[in-house]
Amino acid sequence: MIEFKMTPRFRALAINYPRLFPQIDNPNQPIIELQNEGWFKLVEDTLFLLNRETECMPEDICDGIVVHQIKTKFGGLRIHLNQTTPFLRGVIAMAEQTSYSICEHCGLKGDIRNIRGWVATLCEEHFLKEKHRIEDTLKKNS
Ligand SMILES: [Zn+2]
Repeated sequence: MIEFKMTPRFRALAINYPRLFPQIDNPNQPIIELQNEGWFKLVEDTLFLLNRETECMPEDICDGIVVHQIKTKFGGLRIHLNQTTPFLRGVIAMAEQTSYSICEHCGLKGDIRNIRGWVATLCEEHFLKEKHRIEDTLKKNS
């Protein structure tokens, strides 16, 4: 099993939203699994909107809405809540769609890249770096 740790910057961001991240101190639940910070601003803006929307809900509903997991999958940002509403789903869908044009390493303009079956959204520079890194690893292991 791969072990994820939250980066200090993502951890500090999550701490700003105690209602969305009540389980922040559980080391077995890193929640924000992103190891690169190119999407930091996107995640920051998305959490701001999710928090503002849940703030306006009746307490018995909004207290139950927590972030379950934030990760990358098939080159896109995935944000999972334990419960959701049409508005929250819309915010999350917008964030996912936007992530496909932002390099997940540096935040510059990116495109979806496929490196030997591994899919990521990267700028040209990070695409080449990752490509070389993966090809070197494959060479060493063959
Ligand atoms: Zn980049």
